[in-house]
Amino acid sequence: MSTSLINPELAEQNLLNLLQIPGLSGRERQVADHLMAELIAAGCDAEWISEDDAHTRIPRDFEMGNLIVKIPGTVEGPRLMFSGHMDTVPLVRGVKPKKEGNRFVSQGDTALGADNRTACAAILTLVQVLMKNDLPRPPITLLFTVGEEIGLFGAKEVNVEELGSPALGFNIDSGEPDRAIIGAIGAHRWQGESKVIASHAGVHPEHGVSAALIAARAIADISEKGYFGLIQKDGKAGTSNVGVIQGGEASNQVTDQVKVTGESRSHDPEFLIEITESIRSCFEAAAASVENHVGKAGKITFNFQADYHAFRMQEDHPTVKATANALAKLGITCKPEVTNGGLDANFLNVKGIPTVTLGAGQHNPHTVDEYADIGEYLTCCKLLVQIVEDAAG
Ligand SMILES: [Zn+2]
Repeated sequence: MSTSLINPELAEQNLLNLLQIPGLSGRERQVADHLMAELIAAGCDAEWISEDDAHTRIPRDFEMGNLIVKIPGTVEGPRLMFSGHMDTVPLVRGVKPKKEGNRFVSQGDTALGADNRTACAAILTLVQVLMKNDLPRPPITLLFTVGEEIGLFGAKEVNVEELGSPALGFNIDSGEPDRAIIGAIGAHRWQGESKVIASHAGVHPEHGVSAALIAARAIADISEKGYFGLIQKDGKAGTSNVGVIQGGEASNQVTDQVKVTGESRSHDPEFLIEITESIRSCFEAAAASVENHVGKAGKITFNFQADYHAFRMQEDHPTVKATANALAKLGITCKPEVTNGGLDANFLNVKGIPTVTLGAGQHNPHTVDEYADIGEYLTCCKLLVQIVEDAAG
């Protein structure tokens, strides 16, 4: 089995090197340069490596777009893609990683960045093993994304043609390698804003239209209709939340402006739209129901953005089967699961690349207790090598 060709010391060193490189969201350049140098040292042709222009479409200050590597196949077969994000959260700033038993941990009061350097290191290890041993391989795409932590930006803006339209996708961004994430929730962020008519609250309150009353009625109505908090309707499930209410200037002035910001989530894309549209109609009905003395009603503007899209793969999907079969060869039972978080895989699936998300040993991400489990990380390295071996036939 080609998994025996993995050198665990080298694989560990790959991870330690990557943990030491700073790379917050939008500042992935050093990580990308390191990966490029290592991939070329491993035997990749510089012509296989490119950077896309995703950053020109990201509404933030970004140094670069996604790093894309297209490795030609030595045998025919569907193109595989392995992906992982290069950025880490701000809590990782200044990290000094050290080995403690079978873990990498952070020495100081920072997070470690195992989320998601374990992915970058596992993918690098895969390529080193493939190239050094000249293992047969179908065409392979590597995608190292930017800006995952602040909105899945790289995955959202990547162009599928530039990836060579992979048939099977394996995203790495989780802990235990046996837990394959085959579905994730979709989310909308929405704003209902009422800008209406102010008047003196003591002299002529009836001349005004109260935005506070509109917001209060809307929120009460959302709850009354069953679309507030945990939502369960006819076997469909989701959640919603009113997160922020802002408005008003003085106690003696009828509130002329209130902005309510919230979110909706569901694994069911149609039900997600139902939730958000129901919230919209509660705001519209509330605005129409509040009038001043001459019958002028309130106004509402309601907008929403998709933060990410839901997806759900069947357990007999080729990508899921390839994962389960490769795990089985390592003596591990695959545990498919669905997550309530957003992942690069949400956008990759929406773009037509059926992608599971696998774990490479990251734990307690975004906390000072973050660590990388070296055993799990090495298992993920084996899993990736096994997936390629199986795909090469
Ligand atoms: Zn992550």
